[in-house]
Amino acid sequence: MSQFLDPRFAGLVSYVPGEQPQQTGRLIKLNTNESPFAPAPGVAAAVAAETARLQLYCDPTARQVVQPLAAALGLPPAQVLCGNGSDELLAFCFFALCPAGAAFADITYGFYPVYSRVFGVDAVTIPLAQDFTLRGEDYTALHRTIFIANPNAPTGLALSRAQIEGILRANPDSLVVVDEAYVDFCAESTVPLLARYENLLVIGTFSKSRQLAGGRLGYAAGSAAVIADLTRIKNSFNPYNVNRMTQAAAAASLADTAYFAACRDKIIATRTRTLSALAQMGFLCTDSRANFVFASHPGLPAGEMAERLRERDILVRWWDLPRIENHLRITIGADDEMDTLFEALRELLRTG
Ligand SMILES: *Cc1c(COP(=O)(O)O)cnc(C)c1O
Repeated sequence: MSQFLDPRFAGLVSYVPGEQPQQTGRLIKLNTNESPFAPAPGVAAAVAAETARLQLYCDPTARQVVQPLAAALGLPPAQVLCGNGSDELLAFCFFALCPAGAAFADITYGFYPVYSRVFGVDAVTIPLAQDFTLRGEDYTALHRTIFIANPNAPTGLALSRAQIEGILRANPDSLVVVDEAYVDFCAESTVPLLARYENLLVIGTFSKSRQLAGGRLGYAAGSAAVIADLTRIKNSFNPYNVNRMTQAAAAASLADTAYFAACRDKIIATRTRTLSALAQMGFLCTDSRANFVFASHPGLPAGEMAERLRERDILVRWWDLPRIENHLRITIGADDEMDTLFEALRELLRTG
């Protein structure tokens, strides 16, 4: 720490991203929920064309993304804002939309507590049930901004649209932020509820189901008033938050609906296969609706398993945190990657 740092941040514990190794050649990377597939075929040419215009600032309204995205969501463009990853938009929510504090589950996306700390937001955590389900009745009259990842991370469990609607009704004076990073992998989006609930804000991303994690493109969909608030914050921070190449990449990705659906369906099928392979080995897994599984094994501690998989060049995610220290979060990769993982796990279980 330098002598120049504001003492408020002296003890700040930052978010720790999953390992991003330089050469991924022989590594099987199942640790950060990226897609195993390349971006849509049209993305490379769209990005290349954009590099010829890099001397010009990008469109601060990201129109070429907002328009088709809003149309796909069934919303007017004034109800959609793009961000530099959904993390940026979540940061704006904690920064500006939590005047009475925040509330979120004890086990959820690790950035929520980090943003609470860095922006000085008073946060309460609400414990999930023993089986990691979120009990809707615990989210009644909270009088704080509520953050719900749906499906949740790292458990993969999803609430139905009706359950989220119950939470919206039970907190009419609070903004409810539903983080739908994984919604495309078999969960119900709450976007249709925007027509009826002014207190709903949906956050989405192109990182997980659209093969663009490195491009950094997220979006917020909400009432025109909340989107105008977020836009004012964005324009007071960095008007050019989504660069030219990313806008072009996202527009090309949106245009290729068939490629999107094919990749999504492949991941869902491989997830089904993974869950049954792991069950055969004695793993206990949650009913994941995301592009990862959340698994524990009664015979081998998760931390040790993660370490021994790492020695075999397989990266998975493990947290030394209460309640989940015996679980692994394993991203759904390509079929051959998962087969290599299964082989490695069978060997670990055999050798004890
Ligand atoms: C991955 C993830 C994000 C972040 O996505 P980016 O758009 O890449 O910033 C947000 N929320 C949850 C729950 C995630 O898992």
